[in-house]
Amino acid sequence: MEVLNDIAFQLDMDTLLARLHIDKESEDAKDIQHLVDHVAPLAKPKAVYEVSYIQYKDCDTVNIGGVTFTSRVLRVNLDKIERVFPYIATCGSELEKIVAATDDFMRRFWLDTVKEMALEAGRKYLSNYLKRKYALGQMSKMSPGAGSQDLWPIEQQKQLFSIFGNVENLIGVKLTDSFLMIPNKSVSGIYFPTEIRFESCQLCPRKECPARRAPYDKNLLEAKYL
Ligand code: SF4
Repeated sequence: MEVLNDIAFQLDMDTLLARLHIDKESEDAKDIQHLVDHVAPLAKPKAVYEVSYIQYKDCDTVNIGGVTFTSRVLRVNLDKIERVFPYIATCGSELEKIVAATDDFMRRFWLDTVKEMALEAGRKYLSNYLKRKYALGQMSKMSPGAGSQDLWPIEQQKQLFSIFGNVENLIGVKLTDSFLMIPNKSVSGIYFPTEIRFESCQLCPRKECPARRAPYDKNLLEAKYL
């Protein structure tokens, strides 16, 4: 297991304002610049990953490093793979504490977007780090609870977290009783090398999702995974 807790975070003000739909010349932009000057240096995105090997596979289960996961889609995606990379990445608890101490609704909203950008920095750093260190080509990932519930049930966050032990001590991420992560801008899953890229969105029929990364393919589930 390796913890990555020295990830650089350079907040791009133009990107932040564009995401918030705020004009660069507005009064809000000045307030946001002031806020960013204060919080951006405190942001510490982090990630932890493990190098794990597939122990055995069944019809719809796969055992990864001694932990059994139940998901037909995960099982099929890992069909010809021996080594995978379970991971958790986060914006960091430092930003979470700043948000918790803020009661202004707009500032909380702005800070939530800063957290999102810090998480993106952490996740991107992890992905590039894994590719470089393990000489990987294209990678895909799957996450418990992503897409429709039955692809890989969110309850299996518990098994995923068990791979790392005390995740809160490692990178400050807590798992709630309903299997959500705190800070909310945290992600978890398994990276695996692939020739053909996989996205959970391909199997997710949700309409008008702003985070969609691939078109829904209504035939894919039956053609490949059943
Ligand atoms: S379409 Fe949206 S909800 Fe569905 S898996 Fe993709 S990002 Fe998640």
